[in-house]
Amino acid sequence: MMEIFETLESEVRGYIRNFPVVFDRAEGAHLYDVDGRRYTDFFSGAGALNYGHNHPALKARLIDYIERNGITHGLDLATRAKAEFLERFRDVILAPRGMDYRVQFPGPTGTNSVEAALKLARKITGREKVISFTNAFHGMTLGALSVTGNAFKRGGAGVALTLSDTMPYSGYFGEDTDTIEYMDRFLSDNGSGVDLPAAVIVETVQAEGGINVAEPEWLRGLEALCRRYDMLLIVDDIQAGCGRMGSFFSFEEAGIRPDIVCLSKSISGYGLPMALTLIRPEHDLWDAGEHNGTFRGNNPAFVTATAALDFWETGEFESHIAARAKTLRAALDALAAAYPDSFSGVRGRGMMQGLVCTEAALAKQLSQAAFKHGLIHETAGPDDEVAKFMPPLTIEQGELEAGLELLRAAVRDVLGAPQAVLDEAV
Ligand SMILES: *Cc1c(COP(=O)(O)O)cnc(C)c1O
Repeated sequence: MMEIFETLESEVRGYIRNFPVVFDRAEGAHLYDVDGRRYTDFFSGAGALNYGHNHPALKARLIDYIERNGITHGLDLATRAKAEFLERFRDVILAPRGMDYRVQFPGPTGTNSVEAALKLARKITGREKVISFTNAFHGMTLGALSVTGNAFKRGGAGVALTLSDTMPYSGYFGEDTDTIEYMDRFLSDNGSGVDLPAAVIVETVQAEGGINVAEPEWLRGLEALCRRYDMLLIVDDIQAGCGRMGSFFSFEEAGIRPDIVCLSKSISGYGLPMALTLIRPEHDLWDAGEHNGTFRGNNPAFVTATAALDFWETGEFESHIAARAKTLRAALDALAAAYPDSFSGVRGRGMMQGLVCTEAALAKQLSQAAFKHGLIHETAGPDDEVAKFMPPLTIEQGELEAGLELLRAAVRDVLGAPQAVLDEAV
């Protein structure tokens, strides 16, 4: 059955090459291929499946909505599904956090939310440049690509990617260099050659860029810098948001108040396409229809998104995520300690954690070995040197531990027994 993909599908296909089986169905933390083989999912659709596959509570609401002929496609017309989502989002997410944002529905992909944010920031300030960071990833359309770091992805543009300036992310030069000070110098010095930008766009944790975690202190410094120079602060929370870091927004820990927030991936809760751009009210300077798109009203996604907000009604889900994250981190720390020559450490926050490999090729070897054992995980970083683990947030403790056991088996396949075990054997 793989043959149809090899003969008909474009060479651009990607993940399919790393996991070359035909998948058929999925439930919770597991996928099944056409032969009925089960795989534990430590990838979660790159963060689009934070609540697992086909969550029964979300599925029931979706089936009910389809059965009663609820609106499927609605451009940006007013629909009951959209009203219910907006009310629920206000009541469960925005109001309890004291957040005052207008909600824009851009086209239903992350990159479109980023395009909307960039356009709006330029419109508000009348400035063209945007500051982005080393190893940032913001999407594949030209505006989003212009603020993305990865050379291979940028190369795909085929045109000059302009109107952005790259600055060093938190910790880029190591612990001793404060990159906020560095940026401050560029912005304050008339000789620096850096124009005052419309905005700064940042991920609180750079997911694709190798799971680089910004210090909360650094994020607060960045916010202060934005205020000082009158630049808008855009947080791209597309992958790190919707609970991946333990709280609904990834920037809650740092206590910052972005001007614009991009959400997508897990906002529908069900893997259905949906995106939001949250805008501080005073910045909502759009004219009607100035940024539009045919699929802004993907109403089945609004239905599952509304249902998914049930998870956030109390603090219970946050405690659940924290407990799972602790197990995941401890298992990876133990692996890094057992194989110090192969892993230089563990990086991450919440339920996005990675093993940093001393040889870049090792991360891919691990992913392939894990797949043989029935575990799916991806790699990240500029050289794909980080083995990245993102189980569904809803995963049961036993399922998580079973998945980690598959990972340990894969590590043993690739690296042999840990040094300590060999020493004991002597
Ligand atoms: C995935 C991602 C995007 C792009 O989203 P698409 O839906 O693939 O366009 C943008 N920013 C971040 C941080 C992402 O992880």
